[in-house]
Amino acid sequence: MPVPALLLGLAVAAPPAQEPAAPAGCRHCDHRGVVDCPAHEEDLLALEQEVLFCSAAARCPDCGGALAVPCARCEGGPETAATAARREEAAAWLAREDPLEAFLGRPLVRIETEHFRFVTDAEGLKRGKKRIDGHRFLHELAHDAERAAALLDGHYRPGPKDYRARMRLWFWNDRATHREVMRCFLHSGAEGDFKMLGHEPLFSVWCFDPSFQGDEPSLRSLGVHNGIHMLLSNLFAEIWIGDQGAGWLDSGAAHWYEEKVFAQVRHYCIDEAAVPPNWNGGVWRAAVRERLGRRDDPMVLPTLLTRQTGAMTPEEMALAWSFYDWLVATVPETLADFLRGAKQREGGRELVKRLLGLDLIQAERTWRAWVAETYPAREKKPRRH
Ligand SMILES: [Zn+2]
Ligand SMILES: [Zn+2]
Ligand SMILES: [Zn+2]
Ligand SMILES: [Zn+2]
Repeated sequence: MPVPALLLGLAVAAPPAQEPAAPAGCRHCDHRGVVDCPAHEEDLLALEQEVLFCSAAARCPDCGGALAVPCARCEGGPETAATAARREEAAAWLAREDPLEAFLGRPLVRIETEHFRFVTDAEGLKRGKKRIDGHRFLHELAHDAERAAALLDGHYRPGPKDYRARMRLWFWNDRATHREVMRCFLHSGAEGDFKMLGHEPLFSVWCFDPSFQGDEPSLRSLGVHNGIHMLLSNLFAEIWIGDQGAGWLDSGAAHWYEEKVFAQVRHYCIDEAAVPPNWNGGVWRAAVRERLGRRDDPMVLPTLLTRQTGAMTPEEMALAWSFYDWLVATVPETLADFLRGAKQREGGRELVKRLLGLDLIQAERTWRAWVAETYPAREKKPRRH
């Protein structure tokens, strides 16, 4: 039956179910309805906004982790509801029992991001002459580690279930705490920094141990470097490839993302407690070019592609980094299959043949030619290590 024009007009004109118009904020709050919580320094606020949760922010008496508070000059605006929801979410997260806080019986600084769960109770870390508190350190680490993880994900393209866990990284102020949690959570009596890889990866370190001495830049790159080891060990299958003949991939990748984020390598995948290892001050391009440019040099790949991470020399780590660098630059689409193959114990020689279509002689020649063409002959002196 056709609807009479008059009735149609009325139906359109009738107001929908009574809904008050959303408040529009005011000029004072940029029409948000909320203003940034004044309890956070401006640069820290930006870092807070990047993470999923931070216990220090969630404990903020003013905003409860929402990072914004209602505008005092208006009745609210478009961000009012989301701010309230965020506050509730942060409160619910904080209320969940944390096993470390329960074990130690005190609050800790905890930050959760897409890939990581960071914890610290460190104070007074050193960045040159500046003192950095644990909360700021953890945010800057979270920022750098997520940057490295995003690069890694761009290379490996994981699906939603390809990581089975969030990587846990703990940075302790006191040796006693590090030892206590190592005993309880890692079942280890080791003294130095320590990690578990593969299933539910975990890393723990005493920030003031003799090799780190509370040096903030060093601890930050340590976190990024080990974060990459952990992500790779957890990706696709919970298997650490570093002790089954693919140290070149495990170590090469950890150094590659560390170098990409910090423009320098500070960490070597071996116990750093005794003598800190060093290869050309951690600035590697010109040095690798020089090393691989020697005349009548024997091939390095046949050995390099079979080494375990723990048995590699600093020079081998630099070469593995460069081989990985070559893969990233020329055939990044093969990286995921290199990792999958290595987790199934396929050898380096076989992987290179299957994925690149090259035997080791051809691969070594092509890689060396790329290094000679791409790396500079000279590089600026590295910063003091
Ligand atoms: Zn307002
Ligand atoms: Zn925070
Ligand atoms: Zn606040
Ligand atoms: Zn390493």
